[in-house]
Amino acid sequence: MKFCPRCGSKNIDWPLPYDRQKWECKDCGYIGAFIVDDGKLADVIHKEYLKSKDNSSD
Ligand SMILES: [Zn+2]
Repeated sequence: MKFCPRCGSKNIDWPLPYDRQKWECKDCGYIGAFIVDDGKLADVIHKEYLKSKDNSSD
């Protein structure tokens, strides 16, 4: 299982089918080569992401 390194989402895909070095997150818009494959780490990232989202909105 692969996760987004910015928001911890599982909703990631390759924006370019022939370039599998690059990932795109459908949830936060992250595009890059770095990806998280550790579910526990993804969970931490996701919680931190939600927290920072709460702080920035209003
Ligand atoms: Zn993301």
